[in-house]
Amino acid sequence: MGNNGEKKNGVTAMIFFPNLYKDELLFSVLARFYQYSGDVNKKHFMFDLFDSSTTCASTIFPTNLEKLCESLPSPNAYSSDYFINNHTLLPYYSPFITNDRENKLRLIMKNEDGTNIFMSSGRTASTVKNEKKLKYCILCVDEEKQTQGECYWHRTHQIEGVKVCPIHNTWLIESSNPFTERKHKHEYISLEDSIRDSDLISLDTNLKIEFKHFLYVAEQTDYLLNNSIQPLGLENLKNFYISKLNKQQLVTLEGRIRWKQLIPKFNEYYGKQLLDTLESYIYPDENDTWLHKLLRKPRVSCHPLRHILFLEFLGENISTMVSQIGSTSYKPFGNGPWICLNKAADHFHKPILTSCVITRDYKTGLPIGTFSCSCGFVFSRKGPDKTNEDQFKIGRIKEFGCVWKEKLADLSQKGLSLRKMAEILGVDPMTVKRMMISNVEDPKKYLLL
Ligand SMILES: [Zn+2]
Ligand SMILES: [Zn+2]
Repeated sequence: MGNNGEKKNGVTAMIFFPNLYKDELLFSVLARFYQYSGDVNKKHFMFDLFDSSTTCASTIFPTNLEKLCESLPSPNAYSSDYFINNHTLLPYYSPFITNDRENKLRLIMKNEDGTNIFMSSGRTASTVKNEKKLKYCILCVDEEKQTQGECYWHRTHQIEGVKVCPIHNTWLIESSNPFTERKHKHEYISLEDSIRDSDLISLDTNLKIEFKHFLYVAEQTDYLLNNSIQPLGLENLKNFYISKLNKQQLVTLEGRIRWKQLIPKFNEYYGKQLLDTLESYIYPDENDTWLHKLLRKPRVSCHPLRHILFLEFLGENISTMVSQIGSTSYKPFGNGPWICLNKAADHFHKPILTSCVITRDYKTGLPIGTFSCSCGFVFSRKGPDKTNEDQFKIGRIKEFGCVWKEKLADLSQKGLSLRKMAEILGVDPMTVKRMMISNVEDPKKYLLL
């Protein structure tokens, strides 16, 4: 260990940890860390940390993240949920698995020491195989080298079916590094090191006709990974799909799916070559295919890639699906309309808000609702609401809006004390002070109130 780390609560603390890049695979962060740590001692130091948990190096589902967080140079800088949501592949699967399974996978990634068997079975039951090699986009590499001085492995690029870069719309390049679980320290390979020995052959350039489908798959995958979507519920997903099929007259009046029409239509939409590439072609005479599993009473979860393929076929996408299912199923803040908490407005405490956008807190994984009112007042709070009182709580005011600011301008003419004004406006005195200063500092803003 030497002078490379210090003991802190029995955990070895790191001296530095690399910056994390957007959509970077945790494996990539560790690979860069390994690359920087040129001298042997530092390498030993790092692997002292991870030896008991070699699956920290896992490309797919790293584990023991709590231990990693504890040993960071500044503890609390990142939570294990932060790593999971922003630097692992779990968010790709989350919407399509049950809440239970999502929680279990999260717990394993946080606390367990590499339970590979469970982790691999935790991947949804399906015949879509892993990508064989780690992939990258040469234009991303160029850009990152210019702006950051180094490049990194992206999460999105490694996912099954992703053959093009959703940012640059170009074919990805397959590196010579296998996309598998890694058990040995020397298997941490940074993208920087990998480019040197890989030949620059782009993927599947003979699939030009299907480019728009590959681009769609890449974009939707990127959306899944970077929007922290909660499990949507297997039953809700099925019902959503059936309702869309209904609109295309692919369901009988008795509610039966017209398989004889649906399957050829689906196959034709993509073509056999593309569906074979993505291991998702449906043989017309089979009656227990992945599509059957997806549309019947769901017992198993289906691979996200297949959800994506079916969504494009239906003329939908992840975002439209989430908003349609979200409005009928997951309601951590109950049904709207919600209450306006702008004390400066006449309609204070009246249920008039119809917009509640739900996101997930990076650190805790809890739902956050952002509520916007026509008076311009926007606030958020952490959920889920547990009691009736919760609906009267503001977590954070995001926007004060014109009604509130007008009232502030009004009150400030009356020579009231800060405390009195704060009470009338429903905030603390410091906020009143801050908002008054910002009004004065920006006279234009004041005029435009
Ligand atoms: Zn790119
Ligand atoms: Zn309002």
